[in-house]
Amino acid sequence: MSRLVVVSNRVAVPSKSSGGAGGGLAVALKAALKASGGIWFGWSGEVAEHPSAAPDIKRSDSVTYATLDLSPDDHATYYNGFSNSTLWPLFHYRLDLTDFTRQTYGGYMRVNGMFAGRLLPMLDPADRIWVHDYHLIPLAEHLRNMGVQARMGFFLHTPFPVPEVLTALPNHETLLRSMCAYDLIGFQTATDREAFVGYLVREAQGERLGDDLIRAYGRTLKTGVYPISVETGDIARLAQEAYRSRHSERMRESLVDKQLIIGVDRLDYSKGLVKRFEAFENLLEHYVDNRGRVVFMQIAPPSREDVKEYIEIRQELEAKAGHINGAYADFDWMPIRYLNKGFSRRNLLGFYRTAEIGLVTPLRDGMNLVAKEYVAAQDPEGPGVLILSRFAGAADELATGALIVNPYDVEAVAQALQRALTMPLDERRQRYEAMMAVLESNDIRHWWRRFTADLTAAPFAADDPTGAAAA
Ligand code: UDP
Repeated sequence: MSRLVVVSNRVAVPSKSSGGAGGGLAVALKAALKASGGIWFGWSGEVAEHPSAAPDIKRSDSVTYATLDLSPDDHATYYNGFSNSTLWPLFHYRLDLTDFTRQTYGGYMRVNGMFAGRLLPMLDPADRIWVHDYHLIPLAEHLRNMGVQARMGFFLHTPFPVPEVLTALPNHETLLRSMCAYDLIGFQTATDREAFVGYLVREAQGERLGDDLIRAYGRTLKTGVYPISVETGDIARLAQEAYRSRHSERMRESLVDKQLIIGVDRLDYSKGLVKRFEAFENLLEHYVDNRGRVVFMQIAPPSREDVKEYIEIRQELEAKAGHINGAYADFDWMPIRYLNKGFSRRNLLGFYRTAEIGLVTPLRDGMNLVAKEYVAAQDPEGPGVLILSRFAGAADELATGALIVNPYDVEAVAQALQRALTMPLDERRQRYEAMMAVLESNDIRHWWRRFTADLTAAPFAADDPTGAAAA
């Protein structure tokens, strides 16, 4: 089978300290790379005053890990700027938080061009190139302009906004034209894919050719829905062990038989944490039996700490947690445990299995892996209940078993909490089984295998690879 080349903003380089472990996605991409041998290329995560032009190379099994440092200016414009202050809020429907400057856009294009230039000498015409996420949308176009004709696929981990929102971006046309340099584009949900195709039809006279092919900007590309998932079987096994760990035992001792609601999210405005805290406050206010009997633990490791909006959301949440605890806490009970730090996946799995409720209420989320992990970690004999936002990609697959809520409707989320806290065992089991059936048939291995198999079949039409005919 031809080599796979994965390109993503960050690369999970195996290190002695991690023992080569990592999150579900890192494990999956390594498995995909090992299956055919290949390269994982991207940013090292380091910022250097004078970055070396040559990628740092490490080899492990049949995989080459190639990473580049960024200069301070590239980091400010490409990463903090256009990626995380323009595309991230825009793709999460937060036009109010979307900044746009030509300077950060210039940095974004420059870094994408630089990545393409550094990757070029490592490529072989038979390679299958799989690019990940919003940081690297124009990468394929840069490579095509350098003469690369290899098969290229792109997977977007975030939502894709509807044309009304996307067209608020001043250079939407350039960005979308560059997306058409790929042969295959994968989305998390059918809604995201439809938003993309809808844009091409409306704004670029794109022509639908059957169910999944579209022709636009002189190229024909395939679009597909590939909902990312978790290592369902491994999680179920590991959670059973983690539940018996000292960490989880101490957690249960500290709860003294109180019911536990758990939330686990990067500290990000898209996760709906302020509304979630308000919903819990509403539960304590209106369903008074829960006072002294329920604990809400929110794990929220800080992220993107040099972007202004992330500093503001952190302050807002600290104030909210303090206010709720101040109003309701007693000498022997603290309603909210708000933890501004991250935990290992092993510890999280033990916590998930301990919690009666997984509370996942993003205002907008590409998929939300925590929702899937929470379900996979439950005890089949006495599973907890997942409360899930309709705006998480995961709601498409888990609607049969989760309590689906509108995260903006604080009273409805409080009602769902009350329903989950009092749900009979039979119903909990039925709901859990319905969700597990989905997670077992679409686990993360299934996800990468489907995407790479579809990419292998590219190209889908004998187009001019650069799309220059339509330029
Ligand atoms: N996670 C973790 N430790 C933490 C918090 C989160 O390992 O303290 C992991 C979590 O298990 C999940 C991932 O980070 O696998 C978060 O993925 P998700 O899709 O929920 O959200 P994202 O952060 O990608 O927006």
